Amino acid sequence: ESNSGDHHILMLPFMAHGHLIPFLELANLIHRRSSVFTITIANTPSNIKYLRSAASSEAKIHFAELHFNSIDHGLPPNTENTENLPLDQIPALFHSSTALQHPVRQLISDIVQKDGKPPVCIISDVFFGWSVAIARSFNIPIFNFTTCGAYGSLAYISLWLNLPHQSTTADEFSIPGFPERCRFQRSQLHRFLRAAKATDSWCTYFQPQLSYALNSDGWLCNTVEEVESFGLGLLRDYIKIPVWAIGPLLPQSSGRGWVKENDSGVDLENCMDWLNSHQRNSVLYISFGSQNTISETQMMELAHGLEESGKAFIWVVRPPLGHDIKAEFKAHQWLPEQFEERMKETNRGILIRNWAPQLEILSHESVGAFLSHCGWNSTVESLSQGVPMITWPMAAEQAYNSKMLMEELGFAVELTIGKESEIKRGKVKEVIEMVMEENGKGEEMRKKAGIAKEKMMNAMKDNEQKGLSLRSLEEFLEIIESKKEKTN
Ligand code: UDP
Repeated sequence: ESNSGDHHILMLPFMAHGHLIPFLELANLIHRRSSVFTITIANTPSNIKYLRSAASSEAKIHFAELHFNSIDHGLPPNTENTENLPLDQIPALFHSSTALQHPVRQLISDIVQKDGKPPVCIISDVFFGWSVAIARSFNIPIFNFTTCGAYGSLAYISLWLNLPHQSTTADEFSIPGFPERCRFQRSQLHRFLRAAKATDSWCTYFQPQLSYALNSDGWLCNTVEEVESFGLGLLRDYIKIPVWAIGPLLPQSSGRGWVKENDSGVDLENCMDWLNSHQRNSVLYISFGSQNTISETQMMELAHGLEESGKAFIWVVRPPLGHDIKAEFKAHQWLPEQFEERMKETNRGILIRNWAPQLEILSHESVGAFLSHCGWNSTVESLSQGVPMITWPMAAEQAYNSKMLMEELGFAVELTIGKESEIKRGKVKEVIEMVMEENGKGEEMRKKAGIAKEKMMNAMKDNEQKGLSLRSLEEFLEIIESKKEKTN
């Protein structure tokens, strides 16, 4: 007979907003399904602070701080996550995570002492391959959670492990694990991957760490079987360990924990009132995730294109590249003259500084499209609300998400790729008009988005026809419990 909280699960997310929050939601979901688990999420002190404030007060999740000092790893002082970190310093953050091995071992020993037994399993980030060896040494089952989609995860790992673009000079090439028809392009790889050599700091982290992650006992994926069946099939064939699709994990409250010092903060009520004053499917929502911004020139062209399209919009703005993204946003300097005032007076558009209640905005019926960098969380949120996307991938696996959304789901149109790309107001206007028009391509995309939304919502349904993701999660939890019984 199990007592409440009898089985301990230890979770180890990578240090980035888009990883911490899905881990928190996974913990919440497990708690809602079963009372036999105690869950501890471990991370560096400031990330734990974020998580504590993002967690709802009813959630009985435990948090453990792991000792970490960024300057020991050549990072700026008090840098504990990817936020505000230039791309060329991200490898240092990845490498620094291996210093968490010692405090993680200590934490497991503490749990063993307190509970009288080791955790029932570890669920660690795919990026933390090093956690597999720790789990094996304590004889604890280990699973990886990928906060990316199945297709995007596979493209990302296969590219880093195989560097297929290095053995050809062609612009188009295939990636091991994908069928011939899914050819990738050099422009879809970010510049460090494009130029990657086995000895540089990106490869020396990803190549071994991703290989270790392939030796775990299985992966959990924030996606939905019916929506990503193609990507899941490919991923399973490639990694050859079980993959459970347990999404969509949606944030309970948009970034409540991601408190930003200089956040002008937008009043949710004002935002909803503004959306209420617009017609169904008439507003474009623009946001580039938790840590990205665009260049000054791109910002200017985007603003002109938006204005020329005549469509209504909500735009989450941050200072352009080269400036501190947490600093004050100077509309007069970075946008066309009187842009903000003009948009406000005509009820055409609002600028939200730094951080918006994204999921609430996307779920409003006035929102007709989302211009997004295609981070997987934003993608899942858009799919689950049935909002078609205009994509502008910038980093990580975002370009592969964009490719999948266009080619497999027919749900998106790509505006451009990358933070350095040249983008013209005419193209901005054209793409916005195409996606937001009532008939033609826009209508077709909205239909597909509506179907995706239904599948996403069904996956989490808890009635006699239990949703696929819930079934998948329950199967996973049963496996952990049965493994535990065997080792007891
Ligand atoms: N987000 C938000 N408000 C913002 C920007 C982002 O609530 O103004 C949330 C968004 O809803 C999503 C997450 O932050 O849950 C961003 O994650 P994603 O994977 O899309 O991108 P990343 O931040 O990892 O690049």
